[in-house]
Amino acid sequence: MVPGASQPNRRVFPAAQMLDQPYRDPHARVCACRGAAQCTAIAHKRLGSISIGSRYEYHCRQCTKAFAVHDDRALIFSFVLASALCAVSALIILNPPGSAVGAEQSNRWFGVALLVFAAIGYVSFAFRIRARLSFPKLN
Ligand SMILES: [Zn+2]
Repeated sequence: MVPGASQPNRRVFPAAQMLDQPYRDPHARVCACRGAAQCTAIAHKRLGSISIGSRYEYHCRQCTKAFAVHDDRALIFSFVLASALCAVSALIILNPPGSAVGAEQSNRWFGVALLVFAAIGYVSFAFRIRARLSFPKLN
């Protein structure tokens, strides 16, 4: 979940109706069991008026496993957000503000905390890439 992000506009619909939906990525994806998984829901995430990507939920009929795949925009967003957090935290750690009032050390810890969030962002980016590769499009 992105801080400050509004609730995603989530749409659930029967897989049978998918073919008539004007959404991108309506393709079925290949499950880990090699079965075909249908898209069962799409969540369009927004940050204010900016679209920050979509999450597609899939359900395999063969093994009943459920998984989610993010689109390109969501991948780019998680990478940019993690990189921005990383840059800000590096600046704070290397040159912590507040040295005039003796708050240098506590502000440095704030930078370290931000760096942890950046790391979580990169891990989530890696998992999103992994899901895309693990569950390729059926056609
Ligand atoms: Zn399966």
